This record gives sequence, C-alpha cells and structure tokens, in this order.
Amino acid sequence: MPGPLSSRLFVTVLVGGLSALLACSRASNGAAPAEPTPDGGVFVPAELDAYIEELASRCATVEDDAPAEATLREARAAYKRGETDIALSVKGCTRLFVQRSGDREVFSAVLSPPFGVSFDNETMAVKRTAAMISWSTGPDGKTEVRGDLDGDGIAELRESAVPGASLVSELTDARGTVKQRTRAKVAADGLRVEVTEESETDGRLGVTATYEGARVARKCTGDPTPGSDPPPATPPRPASPFPESPHEIACSPEQLQKLDALLEQATNGGSACMEATGMLDIRFRLLRQMATTSFDFKCTDDPTFVAANDGGYGNVFGGRALIWINPLLFTAVNAEQVATLYHELMHFFFVHDHQVEALAPDLSYADRVYACEQLCFGKKANRCHLAACTKKKICEVDKTGFERRMGKEIEACWTGHQVGALCRKKPGERLWCTTKAECDAACGGQECESKSISCNQNCR
Ligand SMILES: [Zn+2]
Repeated sequence: MPGPLSSRLFVTVLVGGLSALLACSRASNGAAPAEPTPDGGVFVPAELDAYIEELASRCATVEDDAPAEATLREARAAYKRGETDIALSVKGCTRLFVQRSGDREVFSAVLSPPFGVSFDNETMAVKRTAAMISWSTGPDGKTEVRGDLDGDGIAELRESAVPGASLVSELTDARGTVKQRTRAKVAADGLRVEVTEESETDGRLGVTATYEGARVARKCTGDPTPGSDPPPATPPRPASPFPESPHEIACSPEQLQKLDALLEQATNGGSACMEATGMLDIRFRLLRQMATTSFDFKCTDDPTFVAANDGGYGNVFGGRALIWINPLLFTAVNAEQVATLYHELMHFFFVHDHQVEALAPDLSYADRVYACEQLCFGKKANRCHLAACTKKKICEVDKTGFERRMGKEIEACWTGHQVGALCRKKPGERLWCTTKAECDAACGGQECESKSISCNQNCR
C-alpha cells in the first residue's frame, strides 16, 4: 500500500519544510534557526565552527590574557542586553558564545585557548578546536553539557541535567573510558539531593561516596572581626540541613552593591585558582555562572549562618540563584568575605555531604568546597588542601605547578592528615574513624568510605 505511506511522507516533508521556513524568517535578524536539533542528543549551532576558526586565528599569538573584575561586570551587562558574543577576559580570548530563541538561551559555550585542530576521517574535513564547555538547553529545561578541556576536539566531559529531577556527569579519558562519574537525584521533597560519586581506583570505576546534600547549603562559620585571625577551618556544626526560609530583613543598597563587587572578586580569583589546580571545567563553569546568572540577594538576621546558597546545584534545582547573607555576621575583612562568596558559588557545582560536615574533624581536608576555599583564598593553604580540593592523593598533586600558575606559595603537608573514613552503617549510626582499617572493623567491612588523601596504604 504505497499510496498512503508516500502521502504521509509528503505531509511530513511539507511540515518539516514549513517549520524550516518559519525558523528562517524568525532568524532574519541574523540569528540561526533556534530550535534544538538532535545531534547525538546535543544541539550545536552551525555557526560555532566558524566562530572557533576566527577566535583561534585572532588569539593564536595572544599571551597573558585573563579575566578581570571589570571584564566580568561588562560581560554580565552584555549578556543581560542580549548580546551573543561576549568577552570574558581582558584581551577577549576567553569568550562566551550565546544563542537564544526569543528570550531563552538554547546554547552557550565558554571558549578559550588552548586551540587545536581536529581531522574528520570520513569527510576529510579539518577544523580548528578550542578548549570549551557548552550548554545546550531544550524547551523543557533539560541541559546537555559537553566539555573539551584540552581543545583536542573530543569532549571528555559529558553531563545531562533534568531540572527538579536528576544529573549525570562523566569525565572520560581520550579513549572514552569513564574515569569519574557523579549521579545526583532530587529527593521527593525537592529539598535534598542524593549524590553518588564514582572514580577510578586501581584501574576500576568504583563508588567512592554516596551521600545526601541539601538544596540550601549554609555556611555556618561566624566571620572574625576585621583585623583578627581568620576562623578555624572547621566551622560550628550546621543546625539543620534543610532549613525553613530564614527570617528576612532588608538589604541596604550599599550591601547589595558590595555583594555584586564581592561576587566579581570571588569569580575572578576562583577562576584563576581553578585554572592553577588544573580543574578547567570548574573555571569555565564559574565564568559562565557569573556572566549569565541574575543573582538574587536576600538578607537575614538568622544567627545560625553567615551566608547560604539557596539552590542552583548542577542545574537540577530549577536554576535558582538566591544567595542569603546575614549582614550582622558578614563583617569580616574583604578577603574573607570574598572567600565566603566563592564558597557559595562553588555550591552551584558541589553540595556538602551532611555526615562529613557533621563528623569530620577538619572540613578543609574532608570536604571539597571547604578545601578549595582554603586553597584559593586562605592565608594558610597547603599541599593537603590542594589534594582535597582536586580529589587527589597528596603524592599525586603538582604543588610547584600550582604555585607557579597561581603566583602564591603554599605550605608543605605530607603526613598527619589522613583525614579518616566514614562508616554509614545505618542512619543514626554514623561513625567517623581515623583509618579505613578501623572503619572496616567498626562497619563490618560494609559501607565504609575512606576520605583519605594519604598515599600511605596504612593511612587510608
Ligand atoms: Zn557550604
């Protein structure tokens, strides 16, 4: 029965042609067809190749280019105005490429050196490549993230996020083998997220942590008064991981203005620090977060915390970007306040493990956000913070490389920070142990997670 089939085909083609026509007329102001088209599940604008070509040839010989607070401020304003090609660095070689459908962003990418060339064996096409992370967002809000951090044309970072539901993020090696995986699932109450982290140990991908984090991550440390020593790395214990909305007071216009400036400083310093650690993905994420997000600040007199990020983790919490500040406690010297805002910005990418937060003797060695905060902004950063921030062992990190790139020296740290291990036997029976061996004994060998950064097997 070829008749009906071919006429159905014809109708499909006609409708397809019509929608293409509509897309083209809508795009007459220079923008491309805005509807995402599946390409292995990911929409990539056709203009991107030419954009990279132009960027790579213009920036091939540009050196000493980095973001600056003023550039980030201008980038935010440009994004708000609806611009689609935005400089993120002073000389403009780190850039944000944007494509919108109406007011909605359908695609954006942060691009920077290093540049490279990729060769397609089938089409014989040669094209320029750049270090890049891209975000493709569908009409349902589902976001596909792809990252080629070394600019070789192959994405080693692949991530899918469904708002209000879930996130899967994978890092692969050049052959496509998964080296690290994070899964996150939003719990039924919409306030918590269940996270599973896997990474490769001894040549196999294994679960290294399963934990619960909160949508609202509060930083509970009280800031020191100006001029006094910074607070100890371990803050007081969080009161409750899932707070009600705190009591709101008005933020003064000066406070709001200052918070914007602090965010710029936190992003700028944080991005340089993440580059120095080699975590380019976090650097790109920080830059895009800063350029594209309309941050909402609220002030509170709730005495239990100094700052909090209410939502935004991994794009699974509906893209909220509400930051709470308690102005009565947020009184430290500028550098400390920048550190606190960097901490809150990191919560767009990482949540705390409540049990680690409640039990670990030193969070700056046991929790990634606290470790990176100490490493990037603390006065007494050391090699153990570098290991904990990058999720590596102490003997695996490149301390001198970090110091050279960061332009600051950090202290030595080799022993005495084996950190410990967490036994998650039953809820309410969590135990913090000094070593994995001790933990295995207490836990019966089950569900014991080592948090150790030590390379000594006896200290795991
Ligand atoms: Zn926090």
